[in-house]
Amino acid sequence: MAISLLDRKDVDERYTWDLSSIFKTEEEYEKKLEELVSLSKEAEEEFKGKLKDPKTINDCLDKLRVIFELGGLLGSYSYLYLAVDQTNTQAQTRQMRTASIISEINSRLSFIESEIIQLDEELIRKAMEVSEDNKLFLKEIMDKKPHALSPEVEKTLSALSNILDAPYQIYNRTKLADMDFENFTVDGEEYPLSFVLFEEKWEYETDTKLRRAAAKAFARKLRKYQHTIATVYQTQVQKEKIIANLRGFDSVFDSLLFSQKVDRELYDRQIDLIMEELAPHMRKYAKLIQKIHNLDEMTFMDLKLAVDPEFEPKISIEEARTYVEEALSLFGEDYLNMVKRAFDERWIDFVQNKGKSTGAFCSSPYGSHPFILISWTEMMKEVFVLAHELGHAGHFYLAHKHNNIFNTRPSKYLIEAPSTMNEMLMANYLMRNTEDKRMKRWVLSIIISRTYYHNFVTHLLEAAFQREVYRIIDDGGPIHAELLNKFKRKVLEKFWGDVVIINEGAELTWMRQPHYYMGLYPYTYSAGLTIATEVNKRILSEGQKAIDDWLEVLKSGGIYTPIEFAKKVGVDITTEKPLLNTIEYIGEIIDEIIELTEELDG
Ligand SMILES: [Zn+2]
Repeated sequence: MAISLLDRKDVDERYTWDLSSIFKTEEEYEKKLEELVSLSKEAEEEFKGKLKDPKTINDCLDKLRVIFELGGLLGSYSYLYLAVDQTNTQAQTRQMRTASIISEINSRLSFIESEIIQLDEELIRKAMEVSEDNKLFLKEIMDKKPHALSPEVEKTLSALSNILDAPYQIYNRTKLADMDFENFTVDGEEYPLSFVLFEEKWEYETDTKLRRAAAKAFARKLRKYQHTIATVYQTQVQKEKIIANLRGFDSVFDSLLFSQKVDRELYDRQIDLIMEELAPHMRKYAKLIQKIHNLDEMTFMDLKLAVDPEFEPKISIEEARTYVEEALSLFGEDYLNMVKRAFDERWIDFVQNKGKSTGAFCSSPYGSHPFILISWTEMMKEVFVLAHELGHAGHFYLAHKHNNIFNTRPSKYLIEAPSTMNEMLMANYLMRNTEDKRMKRWVLSIIISRTYYHNFVTHLLEAAFQREVYRIIDDGGPIHAELLNKFKRKVLEKFWGDVVIINEGAELTWMRQPHYYMGLYPYTYSAGLTIATEVNKRILSEGQKAIDDWLEVLKSGGIYTPIEFAKKVGVDITTEKPLLNTIEYIGEIIDEIIELTEELDG
């Protein structure tokens, strides 16, 4: 079996993204980097020590918007270059250099926030009245007032920001550049292994011997790095705790939730309810998988198996394009045009190669267009990945189009709503266009195994684990590999009960996701999908009105808090109802899959 990965230089360029739409040449990039540095120096010279009246404040912020935009483009360019090949030394160098220059600039300009934050509230309010463009930015500074540190400390923290981000960088570098998986052997035959191969291929392998052997080999390699990665992770959470303390937050949770604009209740509810209420449905699903695949025992290594693996059709990128365009066409011409441009103008990096970041993501620098990274496997389910990432793209495309850079960034709580919404729309479309029971079952099973498993189980279990870790940190306790393994195992056992055996190696799952380096991010997947599930129901029953409401909130960027955003689309997330509805809906789909399976077998 030959599935070794190509080097980046050997991939088909047509299926890579085109970063020249940000900067045409290396020279242009260099020139813009210099320009950014001079702009920041000019702003320092012109405004430092002078932010004392509404006009000067707003003049300064008008300049800051330009600097933010350019900084974002430069940062994204260097980051995206590296994301497709973490082993590329030139890309590493460029990314590090850019990041350190941007840190330096942030530090130089930290006076802006520090000076404003120390002004009387009344003066800040006056400045807000003068400029609609800078209003939200000023309001956010005012909200931070109780947690502000002295200007010198803020400046120091800004100067160190790149260093403070080191855990994320080190984690990624270890995982993608250093962790070299040896081949594994089954019945005298060798098979290749890598992070991507494991997550994209071996976890779904229907040959139980192969699948479990791959899982064991994968865990063996992870285990060799557990102490390093635990230390990196410990550094990350320790840093977050120190910052929470410095800024006078009662707990690391309050500190991390502050910028999300949601409170502890919304956060805890998501984790507690899903652990309790969703678990019985998912155990039923696990039992079905065990039955279909005739497994002697159901283990953590078997959970990714598909309901009907032989059915899944292969699909070309061109065919996928047609599906995505048709499924999302209900959003109207502007949205559909964006989707077409994503393909025509090479916004998407499809290819697989050595050193490429795993999973999929969408990055949307202000002033350019979104970029999407995926690893195309020609499987039909990739249409859901594409729809998902185009959901992020559509969100930022609209938010950027209708807002200035200060007003575009939505709360993390909402980030996964537009993406998962598009997965639902893809499912609706596929269900509508078939009468075939096997196809229907396949679509429903993808909604569970991909959309809900990923967002409501994988990430939610990360969130439950993460909450345990932060509780320890809040209490001043130590974090080390042994403890992390214990926590992860405990969470998995609690959720799966006696239906799934949590095999040796499963406890190392905390080493697999970069999300732990992004604060309280994992729980937001289920939060976003709860909103999307409710709105999807509205789209199916009310049609255009619900679609219009949805497009309207996508355009709103960062204007609304999560509670306001959800309310605008008819979902009240201050109660547990939407989440319970969503869990009920997941239960219904699982029952439908079970029914269809009985019919198909009968
Ligand atoms: Zn996403």
